[in-house]
Amino acid sequence: MSDAANTELDALVIGAGFAGLYQLLCLRDRLGLSVKVLEAGGGVGGTWYWNRYPGARCDSESHVYWYTFSEELMREWEWSERYPGQAEIMRYLNFVADKFDLKRDIQFNSRVTSAQYHEATNRWQVRTEDGQTFIAKFLVTAVGCLSTANVPAIPGLQNFKGDWYHTGQWPHEGVDFTGKRVGMIGTGSTGIQAAPVIAARAAHLTVFQRTANYSVPARNVPLTAEFKKYVKQHAGDIRATTHQTYNGMGFKVDDRKAVETPPEERETIYEAAWERGGLQFRASFQDMLVSKEANDTAADFIKRKIRSIVRDPKTAAILSDIDHPYAAKRPPIDTDYFETYNRPNVSLVDVRATPIERFSAAGICTSEAEYPVDIIVFATGFDAMTGPLLRMNIRGRGSVALKDVWEAGPRNYLGLQIAGFPNLFTITGPGSPSVLCNMPVAIEQHADWITDCIKFIRAKGLERIEARPEAVDRWVEEVNDVANKTLLPLATHSWYLGANIPGKPRVFMPYAGGMIRYREICQTVAAQDYEGFALS
Ligand SMILES: Cc1cc2nc3c(=O)[nH]c(=O)nc-3n(C[C@H](O)[C@H](O)[C@H](O)COP(=O)(O)OP(=O)(O)OC[C@H]3O[C@@H](n4cnc5c(N)ncnc54)[C@H](O)[C@@H]3O)c2cc1C
Repeated sequence: MSDAANTELDALVIGAGFAGLYQLLCLRDRLGLSVKVLEAGGGVGGTWYWNRYPGARCDSESHVYWYTFSEELMREWEWSERYPGQAEIMRYLNFVADKFDLKRDIQFNSRVTSAQYHEATNRWQVRTEDGQTFIAKFLVTAVGCLSTANVPAIPGLQNFKGDWYHTGQWPHEGVDFTGKRVGMIGTGSTGIQAAPVIAARAAHLTVFQRTANYSVPARNVPLTAEFKKYVKQHAGDIRATTHQTYNGMGFKVDDRKAVETPPEERETIYEAAWERGGLQFRASFQDMLVSKEANDTAADFIKRKIRSIVRDPKTAAILSDIDHPYAAKRPPIDTDYFETYNRPNVSLVDVRATPIERFSAAGICTSEAEYPVDIIVFATGFDAMTGPLLRMNIRGRGSVALKDVWEAGPRNYLGLQIAGFPNLFTITGPGSPSVLCNMPVAIEQHADWITDCIKFIRAKGLERIEARPEAVDRWVEEVNDVANKTLLPLATHSWYLGANIPGKPRVFMPYAGGMIRYREICQTVAAQDYEGFALS
């Protein structure tokens, strides 16, 4: 045990991305608590610290992908592009951490490997990989939904003689693809961002696609001086808009229904949305995510676009053979993704038809052929949402392990607290809007709610808050009900359902009822003296 064990903290926060930084500021500067943040990485930034792959960029537009708790901060910071790139977001998060003097309370290179609740003392005991121990009354996980990289268990990787990288653990010094044969596995949002950039440098890029995916052009551009001025002058309005939209974005879903719009007019609307670019495409019609018939019109439009862009008919057929509704998986946006397949140095392998069976010393072997490569890039995503929490060996009352409580899938109340785990809060936990939302909006809402909750507990002279089992049952039902009213669960191979991780329970994890409804529910619960929670 280190000296740290003797320092008892009011609150310990795990993770120094968007969520951990803001939670630290709230608890330390607004409530005056003693707080420490433990972060596995060597700096702040979370997602943007780890994901340094070529082409890494935000899909949320820059004027909504930031904190809105301080209008001064919103006026001080200026984004340069419509969608901020990884390096710019890192600069932003460092700017925030420095402005609010947050780094002095963050311990970097400290991975939490266990967290144990002790009933007798009502304290959490948290251990790090290097053997340090910390004691805190409140424990807040800000570990992110997408921070546990998933390298698929395909045999033979240890035999591969070249280099391999996962996009979510990219080397800080970068990777030189010049003159190299590259094999990239995965065509989710990340693969779609990375492929054009890798192809521009590599001798040859072979993309291994299991699931064909939709993508809409991002149409990234540098921001004009007028737009930057507009953002500064309307900081409050922008914040208000993100609080009034279903998914915390800066655009509203149109009132029109695709099924009630004549085909020619619909085509014009989709064409305009395609030209404007970005995630707003899915806001073209209000019924797109609830009616299969409506969704088919969007799906058909994008598939036609793919076939019109990609010149080789066989490649175009593989890319447009998409088996799920549009936006039922995380909808990517891109810069020249489909155009990349027109390059002479790019080829596509359909691994649904010919699965990857193993890695050889020379490269990637499918059921049909061996593809010799110098570098393998795994754009294979994450053990999303539950992965970072379950990896920490969290134990609640009676030493019960979270992994046992969640054996059949995550169960909690409001995505914020788990029955049997007092004083533990999970920012953007499963069962909250999280990944279906523009995440800074979801993160600020959670950190604010947790801060108000702890303030309430202290003001009332209480010691403990814990979700009641019956509230958990109700919430799990609500999460399932709202998901089942949408087309989202139809993408059966989606990471929203845990389907990318062998053996993971198939449960739709994020809350699909929308940020507005969710915020109202959380506010009502708080206003009713934390209904559904046991306070003592
Ligand atoms: C490539 C990519 C693109 C994305 N694009 C968008 C987008 O366009 N819009 C959007 O809204 N969201 C996007 N996201 C989601 C993104 O994760 C969130 O926007 C946001 O960065 C999450 O912040 P966070 O603090 O909750 O989690 P993270 O940024 O993931 O930070 C969590 C931190 O916790 C640390 N941690 C985890 N486990 C431990 C442990 N056991 N001990 C110590 N530290 C630990 C991690 O090292 C990490 O630094 C994207 C994600 C990825 C991967």
